[in-house]
Amino acid sequence: MPDHVITPSAQATVPVAGGGSFPVRRIYCVGRNYAEHAREMGHDPDRELPFFFMKPADTLVTGGADMPYPPMTQDLHHEIELVVGLKSGGSDIPEAEAMAHVWGYAVGLDMTRRDLQGEAKKAGRPWDMGKGFDHSAPIGAMIPAMGVMPGAIELMVNGAVRQSSNVSKLIWSIPETIAYLSKLVRLEAGDLIFTGTPEGVAACVKGDVLEGKVEGVGAVRVKLV
Ligand code: MN
Repeated sequence: MPDHVITPSAQATVPVAGGGSFPVRRIYCVGRNYAEHAREMGHDPDRELPFFFMKPADTLVTGGADMPYPPMTQDLHHEIELVVGLKSGGSDIPEAEAMAHVWGYAVGLDMTRRDLQGEAKKAGRPWDMGKGFDHSAPIGAMIPAMGVMPGAIELMVNGAVRQSSNVSKLIWSIPETIAYLSKLVRLEAGDLIFTGTPEGVAACVKGDVLEGKVEGVGAVRVKLV
């Protein structure tokens, strides 16, 4: 038995469709990875290298559990995203080898306290409190990536379509993203990458039901309470 002086927190996991669970190490998120979303946020998508931020692994909301509306915001935004889960890692992974490190895919929501993120941007401060707050990462079941080609990506709020695009419109593809991120940090098995959201991000309120899906991958459903 390790000589811990306090009880360790539980390992974060994502359920796998059909059984089992995917243990999560870190959550990386790509910013502005669809051109129309970059434009709606006031940026020129053509000039920017990918950039990353993180959420703690224990921000995941799984199994269709409710998401409590977070404190300290009046402007909680939804961002539907394709999520990639790694089975292995490394540094300086060549683009041509990147997909060999992918275990599976899931559909996730990069929930964002847009007002806090906006204040942080203006002040040149970190985004953590706008992005990495408790319960900020609802996610559906993972599926093995083998043979899967993610397609249409869509988010409905209370049955009305709010975001609709296609994963083929990613500015930085999944292998490009893995290759570039692995130059910045060593990736490991259990790392998740939220690959960015398409246009149509907007505020949601307590009581809203968010239902997202990615063609070929699956779905995520969460109610804000
Ligand atoms: Mn995002």
